[in-house]
Amino acid sequence: MKKLAILGSTGSIGTQTLEIVRENSDLQVVALAAGTNVELMEKQVREFGPKLVCMQSEAACKDLAVRLQDVEVEILCGMDGLIQIAEMDESDILVTAIVGMIGIRPTIAAINKKKDIALANKETLVTAGHIIMPLAAKMGVSILPVDSEHSAIFQSMQGENKERIHKLLITASGGPFRGKTREQLENIQVEDALKHPNWAMGSKITIDSATLVNKGLEVMEAKWLFDMDLDRIQVVVHPQSIIHSMVEYVDGGIIAQLGTPDMKLPIQYALFYPDRRPMAGKRVDFYELGSITFEKPDMETFTGLKLAMRAAGEGGSMPTVFNAANEKAVSLFLNRKIRFLQIPEIIEMCMDSHKRIENPDVNQILSAEQEAYDLIRTKFE
Ligand code: NDP
Repeated sequence: MKKLAILGSTGSIGTQTLEIVRENSDLQVVALAAGTNVELMEKQVREFGPKLVCMQSEAACKDLAVRLQDVEVEILCGMDGLIQIAEMDESDILVTAIVGMIGIRPTIAAINKKKDIALANKETLVTAGHIIMPLAAKMGVSILPVDSEHSAIFQSMQGENKERIHKLLITASGGPFRGKTREQLENIQVEDALKHPNWAMGSKITIDSATLVNKGLEVMEAKWLFDMDLDRIQVVVHPQSIIHSMVEYVDGGIIAQLGTPDMKLPIQYALFYPDRRPMAGKRVDFYELGSITFEKPDMETFTGLKLAMRAAGEGGSMPTVFNAANEKAVSLFLNRKIRFLQIPEIIEMCMDSHKRIENPDVNQILSAEQEAYDLIRTKFE
């Protein structure tokens, strides 16, 4: 029996993880955490019977406690609760399906308790990869990628000598606005940006996919996960999202992982690695597919990707500022306070005003996050 603690259980990755639990009787949920969706959390607790459950705010915890009066479960609250879940003795693996930098502290806490991590929460590695990866190595903990691109790379590396990798090829769908000019992006509405052509995901990552910021975050995530120099990571636009990413070896051979766009495959691979389990769902039919295509990303229109590469190259605290500015800008866009094209403008403004710290510790990372938030607040709220 493998025991899972899931942070972000009410979200897109969280609910798909629970679907996998339903389909595999040797997986057991021991803890669940979410933000504010008390209604869904009540249902999840009744169905999966965790020992611990955590909500973001006092109000949500109280509401959940009233709803679950007849159920034996300990209800925790906020960051302390997330850390208690991350450290609990009963779990074997922590699924980090929470969104944003809030995942840093619980991830570190779980690694210190020698828990393996099924990592979806890319913002954690982007901002604190230099702390998390060495710590995981020291504690003998596996960081198993859930992001489909990183899972594809991980799958394409099995049985291979890592020293023989020439480069990583991260594929990108190009998002809903691929091929559009900056003029055409001027009046993009929230509804347009939330329509991803291939993937159904949470709202923040869907906007990140439309700006191509997501691809930039993935490059930074890959750099840490696979200990790869930036100049050996290439982004390739592949609109059909059938090849989920590739690894090119020194002899020119390229190994890729293909499949229909369904996050349950990489989630399940992380949970059962190195095993594979049967999975229901649509399969790739090559006769039906006909052709797949590739192109170069348009970094002049989608400047979010260009800024991500700049942040990744500068390193230190700059990826944190990039990420924090993006988190805030996306939230302002979703609340209709700024235009779509202002997202990269805000990121650039924060990066330009930041005094970079070479090797930030967690407190310095959180201060850099706050600095970006404060700057944005003074100008836009
Ligand atoms: P969602 O927005 O769908 O879900 C986010 C989850 O985090 C929800 O359960 C939410 O709870 C919870 N949450 C938010 N804030 C807090 C908080 N302060 N405390 C506790 N829980 C909180 O996001 P996704 O599932 O789309 O993405 C999760 C992560 O996975 C992100 O880092 C994303 O980049 C990454 N990812 C997602 C993919 C996808 O297909 N969706 C693909 C690859 C990576 P509530 O809803 O109750 O407020």
